[in-house]
Amino acid sequence: MNLQEKILGRFLRYAAVTTQSRPESEVIPSTPGQWELAHMLMEDIAALGVRDVSIDEHAVVVGRLPARLPEGHAPVPVVGWVAHMDTVDVGMAPDIHPVVIRNYQGGDICQNEEKQLFISVAEHPELLRYIGQDIVVSDGTSVLGADDKAAVANIVTALEVLHDNPGIPHGEIYVCFVPDEEIGLCGAKAMDVARLPVDFAYTIDCCEEGELVYQTFNAANVRLDITGVTAHPMSSKNNVVNPILIAVDFLNLLDRGETPEHTEKTEGFIWAHGIEGNALNTTLKLLIRDHDREKFLAKKEYLKACTEMMKLRHPKARLSLTIRDDYGNVNDAITPDKRKCVDYLFRAMDELGIEIKDIAMRGGTDGSYLSTRGIPTPNYFTGALNFHSRCEFMPMGAVEKSCRVTLKLIELITDNG
Ligand SMILES: [Zn+2]
Repeated sequence: MNLQEKILGRFLRYAAVTTQSRPESEVIPSTPGQWELAHMLMEDIAALGVRDVSIDEHAVVVGRLPARLPEGHAPVPVVGWVAHMDTVDVGMAPDIHPVVIRNYQGGDICQNEEKQLFISVAEHPELLRYIGQDIVVSDGTSVLGADDKAAVANIVTALEVLHDNPGIPHGEIYVCFVPDEEIGLCGAKAMDVARLPVDFAYTIDCCEEGELVYQTFNAANVRLDITGVTAHPMSSKNNVVNPILIAVDFLNLLDRGETPEHTEKTEGFIWAHGIEGNALNTTLKLLIRDHDREKFLAKKEYLKACTEMMKLRHPKARLSLTIRDDYGNVNDAITPDKRKCVDYLFRAMDELGIEIKDIAMRGGTDGSYLSTRGIPTPNYFTGALNFHSRCEFMPMGAVEKSCRVTLKLIELITDNG
C-alpha cells in the first residue's frame, strides 16, 4: 500500500469516530467521542513502537518513540508532534461521512445526491488545482474534519514508516493528541506540559500545501461587568445610572478602524463580540488580537484606561474589567537560539520542492499556547482546504506531501542535530 492509501485508510477510521467538541461543556474533553478516539490512538501508536503511552483525566494522549541512532551519533534534539482530536461545531451534524472521489477530473463535486449538495467550481475554483488527485469531501451535512484528523493520520502514518523501515535513524520523538482545540485550545491548556519534554514541537493544523505558520496572534479575552442603579421614573432624575448606556459609551471609545472587518494580515483588533444587559447589569465581551506584543499590551492598557474613565464619568456605577490571556504569538517563543525549528521547516519544504507560503495566521493554534509555555511550536499545512465549512476538502496528493514534510523534518533534525 502506498503512503497516500495508508494516510487515507487511517483518516477514514478516525473520521468515523464522532469527536465534535461542544463549547458549552464544563468538562474536558467536552464530548465522549474524544475519549474513544484517544483510546484508539493509544493502541495504534503502541503497536508502532511508541513507548510510555499515557492518557490523563482530560484525554490528552502522549507517547514517546525512543531514539534509534547509530553508535557515536551526535546528539539529536527531542521533537514533538501535536494534533487535535476534536472537530469544530459550526452548526452542522456532528457525525462525519466522508466521500472519496477517485481521480478528480474537474467540474462540480457532488457530495450528496439525495440532498443535492455540491462543491461547485464557480464558488471554489481552487478545486481545479487538484485535477488528477483523489479528493475526499464530506457528504455535505458536516465538515470533513481534516482539521485536524488529516494531521492525526499524518503523524501516525509517519510513525508507521519509521516502524517499517528500521534503517531510518531518528532521535527521540514525542507524539501528543489533545482534545477541544476548537473551543479555545482547552486540551492543550489543560495538559501538564512536563509530559512533553521536547526541545520544540510542530502542529499540523493549517490548510493548503506550502502553508507554514510561526506568526500567530497574541490573544486575550476581555469581560466588562457594569452594574448601574435602577429607580422608578418618579424618582429617577439624578438617580438612575444606566449600565447599557455606559457600555455604549465604552464602545464609542474604541477605534472603529481596529475591528476584524477593517483589518487584515498583521493588523490587530479589538472585537466586541458579545453584549448582554438590562437596567441593572450589563456585560460586554471583547477579544483582543494582535501579532505585535507591544501593541497587544497597549490594547490591554487602553481598555483599562477606558474603564477608569467610565468610573470617573459614572461614579455611582460599578465597573469590573477582567482580562485573561489566551495564547501568544509563536514567533515570540522563537528566540535566535531556538530558530532551528523554523529553519528545519523551511528546509524540509524546500528540499521537497514545495512552494512555501509563509503566512501570519489571524488566529492561534495549540502551538500558540505551547509556545507561551516554553515549547516553540510552529505549524504547517495539512493539505486540506476550506476548514470549518461543509466545503472542506482533502486532496490526497497535498495530504501526502504534508506527511512527507513530517518525514523530511525527522531526517533533517537527525542529520543536523
Ligand atoms: Zn485545527
